[in-house]
Amino acid sequence: MMPFTELVLASHNAGKLKELQAMLGEHVRVRSVGEFSSIEPEETGLSFVENAILKARNAARVSGLPALADDSGLAVDFLGGAPGIYSARYADGQGDAANNAKLLDALKDVPDAERGAQFVCALALVRHADDPLPILCEGLWHGSILREARGEQGFGYDPLFWVAERNCSSAELPAAEKNQISHRARAMALFKQRLGLA
Ligand code: IMP
Repeated sequence: MMPFTELVLASHNAGKLKELQAMLGEHVRVRSVGEFSSIEPEETGLSFVENAILKARNAARVSGLPALADDSGLAVDFLGGAPGIYSARYADGQGDAANNAKLLDALKDVPDAERGAQFVCALALVRHADDPLPILCEGLWHGSILREARGEQGFGYDPLFWVAERNCSSAELPAAEKNQISHRARAMALFKQRLGLA
């Protein structure tokens, strides 16, 4: 059972808030960090987990409530895990199409066997801003990077992410199907188990 009745989500994204509220049910009221502050913390960590913890601590500090944060991105094996925590801004803030073009270029001479990658989602829950024992859950979704974009669904790097077990790109999967097997789904499933909700 949840040890509290209110939780703040370290995100301004209304969709994420709704999804989390639905998952946690009526026993916990999920609030947005935007209710308390519009200032976003600097993401100075070097890993997804570090940045999720930073965001969760900030949300707990400004709200006085337990806080949950997520951080996600794409880690490409051949690039030593890049773009990683910099996934959203890989092409200096020029958007998804530019990010994808830069990734294709970085891998243009890389053989198929070395194009492995994973989508990563890290979740961190802190009971208070200085919590020394955050609840941490990481979801990984393994795949490989295509040589050209395929599919129209999803967002970000989905058109370049080949999902071998479905024989299609992540952008060719219907949203409901992606949401069952993705890095986010895996992290959330672990999180629910840790809270005794699954
Ligand atoms: P955020 O954690 O929602 O800010 O996502 C960080 C960045 O990682 C996004 O802007 C995308 O570039 C990439 N990313 C994270 N999850 C996905 C996904 O499910 N599909 C495609 N790209 C993703």
